[in-house]
Amino acid sequence: MSKNEAPHIALTFDDGPNPDTTPHILAALAAYHAQASFMLWGEHAAAAPDLVRQEVAVGHALGNHTDTHPNLTELSADAANAELNRTDAAIKAISGQVPIMIRPPYGAYTKDLVAHWTRPAVIWRVDSEDWKSHDPESIFTRVKTQIQDGDIVLMHDALAATAQVLPRVLQYLHDHSFQLVTVPDLIGPRFTHAQVIHSRTDVTMRNREDKEQ
Ligand SMILES: [Zn+2]
Repeated sequence: MSKNEAPHIALTFDDGPNPDTTPHILAALAAYHAQASFMLWGEHAAAAPDLVRQEVAVGHALGNHTDTHPNLTELSADAANAELNRTDAAIKAISGQVPIMIRPPYGAYTKDLVAHWTRPAVIWRVDSEDWKSHDPESIFTRVKTQIQDGDIVLMHDALAATAQVLPRVLQYLHDHSFQLVTVPDLIGPRFTHAQVIHSRTDVTMRNREDKEQ
C-alpha cells in the first residue's frame, strides 16, 4: 500500500494547551511522526505560549476554539466575533500565525454564524468522548471501533486520560496503516470558508450534490 492509498485521518485536540498534559501529547505525536490539529482555548494559549510555539514549530495546525469557551449560539453575533477576534490576536502575538479554522465550543454553531466566517468550522465524525468518560480504555475502544478513512476525531489535549492513552491509539492507527495529517491536509482544496466540515467524506459528498443540482 502506498502512502496515498493509505487511509488518512485527522486527530484534533481541544481546550489546550495544558502544561501538565500537552507535552505528553506532543511527545507521543512526535514519536509516531503524526501531524494533528490543536483547537486552542485563547486564555490557555496566553498562559502557555511556549506550547503553542512548539505546536507550530513541528507543523501541527491551529484552530480557534474561542477565548473563554462559551456556547457561541447563546451570544450575540458581536460577542461571538469578539471571542474569536481576541483569540486570533493572542495566538498571532504568540506564534505569528492566525488559526486556519474555527472549532466552536461544544460543536455548537448556527448557519448564520458560519456564513460570516472566513474560515471553515471544523466539527468531527468520531467523538472519543474523552471529555465524558475520562477513561483510557473507553477512549481507545471508541476510536478503534469507529475510525474510517477521511475521519476527523475529537480529543482533548487538556485531559490526563487522553495523554495516557494516546500512545496506544497511535500504535493501533500505525498498525492499521492510517496516515495522520492536519485537517487542512486531510480536506485539501475543498478546505474553504463558510462551511461546516465533519469529515473528508462529508465534504466530498456535499460537493458532488452541489454539482448535481
Ligand atoms: Zn472545548
